[in-house]
Amino acid sequence: MPAEFLKVQNAGYHRYYVGDFECTTLWDGYIHHGYEGIFPNADPAEMARLQAEHRLPSDHIPMDLNPVVVNTGSHLILIDAGMGRTSTMFGPGMGHLIDNMRAAGIQPDQIDAVLMTHLHPDHSFGLINPDETAAFPNADLYCSEADWAEWTDEVNLKRNDFRKPWTEGTLAAVAPYRGRLRLFHPGDELFPGVTTYSVAGHAAGMCAYIFESKGQKIVFTGDVCHHQIFDLYHPEWFFHMEYDTDPGQGAAAKAAILKKVVAEGIRFHGYHFPYPGLGDIVEAADGTYRFHAQAVNPRL
Ligand SMILES: [Zn+2]
Repeated sequence: MPAEFLKVQNAGYHRYYVGDFECTTLWDGYIHHGYEGIFPNADPAEMARLQAEHRLPSDHIPMDLNPVVVNTGSHLILIDAGMGRTSTMFGPGMGHLIDNMRAAGIQPDQIDAVLMTHLHPDHSFGLINPDETAAFPNADLYCSEADWAEWTDEVNLKRNDFRKPWTEGTLAAVAPYRGRLRLFHPGDELFPGVTTYSVAGHAAGMCAYIFESKGQKIVFTGDVCHHQIFDLYHPEWFFHMEYDTDPGQGAAAKAAILKKVVAEGIRFHGYHFPYPGLGDIVEAADGTYRFHAQAVNPRL
């Protein structure tokens, strides 16, 4: 009798608390990301050393997508919407957010607000279903004014680079939300205990969200860091010369937020860190940083 493999993992959701807020990371999938073009100003020998020391694959980066729902007790707030199921331009491994949301006991029509860190495809395309209707039909859409200006700019449609398909997809993704769009400036408070903090650079208006309850804080940082090792050891490394709107500004934003979370004891959530993306940042003796991931455990 052959013993058949099941090839199915448990549902991708992980729940945790920040004060009185109930947070649920919902795995949308992952990008099998090549190293080409990544961390262009990195020293190759140092990159190889870190790969070996941390047993990282040297041929690709498995980049998870970790949207989060925060239930504040009065609102259900989703931070970023995943890649969704309308496009496979970043590979076939994504589009699981809705299934994992339902598995976690949350229905898409319960979401009151979607907060966008930025409108790149792997964060925004999941705003719509395959038939282009709103995936979160009762949600307001929150986006910084600068990010909205950059990624809904129809001038991008005339370009011959990645900005054309990215903008095309984002325009379709935000279309059902135009009547309930809430643009803001970084620094604004959006809900009681929910403030915004600029991490511009990777995108011109990228924004982090700080949630605070009962003296506990967590920050959802989008793509200010893409990697749990490289970005922490080397905040000065750029992510990408093309995909970063301003690579130098992105590295400066990274250094600033790492300093802030250590100084203020803020828990850190990296959208592309290994699932569920949650952990704590500490400062090393040489002034660089380390990420201590929260282990996944059925304990609540
Ligand atoms: Zn991203």
